[in-house]
Amino acid sequence: MEASEKLLIRLAGFRIGITGPPGSGKGEQARILGAILRAEILSISSLLRKAAAEPDEIGRYIDQTMTRGELVPPDIVMDLLVSELRSIRSSQSVILDGFPRDEQQARESMNFRSSRVFVFLDVPDEVCYQRLTCSERNRADDQFDVLKKRLTIYRSELPGIRQAIPDHLMIDANGDQTVANVTRSIIEGLERVVFQTDASAGLAVNQ
Ligand code: AMP
Repeated sequence: MEASEKLLIRLAGFRIGITGPPGSGKGEQARILGAILRAEILSISSLLRKAAAEPDEIGRYIDQTMTRGELVPPDIVMDLLVSELRSIRSSQSVILDGFPRDEQQARESMNFRSSRVFVFLDVPDEVCYQRLTCSERNRADDQFDVLKKRLTIYRSELPGIRQAIPDHLMIDANGDQTVANVTRSIIEGLERVVFQTDASAGLAVNQ
């Protein structure tokens, strides 16, 4: 799959958040979109895992929080993310895999100097369980109890996240279809969002 040159040009410098419940396929979509959109990928969980490997108090705290399947507090996440973003050229588009995960992150992302857009992947809970309990990735936080907690947290944070983001910057994609179709619907959503200002009749987006 390819994106039009026009879309690539318009997306230059965008921060593209992609979020969804565990098992929604956001990591896979981030990788695919990164290649199609020539975007850099910043995975929040990878950033956190790197910080968790540090032999200091904050590293231990992040490690324990992730093992329990809970969200790392937004101040820590935003510090790590903002300092990482500083090292990236402002004209480079960046996919933020696993962002935002709570209301504070969503609110603070509205202060980014770059343009932004947010993809929400959704998948029914039973599909998340099925995908992750059968997965070969062998992660401690994919065990049933922890997974259940991660799903519950995701569902409870979602309304606050969505409230903090203007409707026209949100793209909803059904993650319960073939990988290629998910990618296609995200690209179509991106086209709607970034070209909306070109729409002469003020057409509503995100419906
Ligand atoms: P994921 O693989 O995206 O489900 O993330 C694994 C774990 O990393 C989560 O259960 C959280 O502990 C942590 N994490 C990932 N992204 C975030 C975020 N944006 N905010 C807070 N914690 C996060």
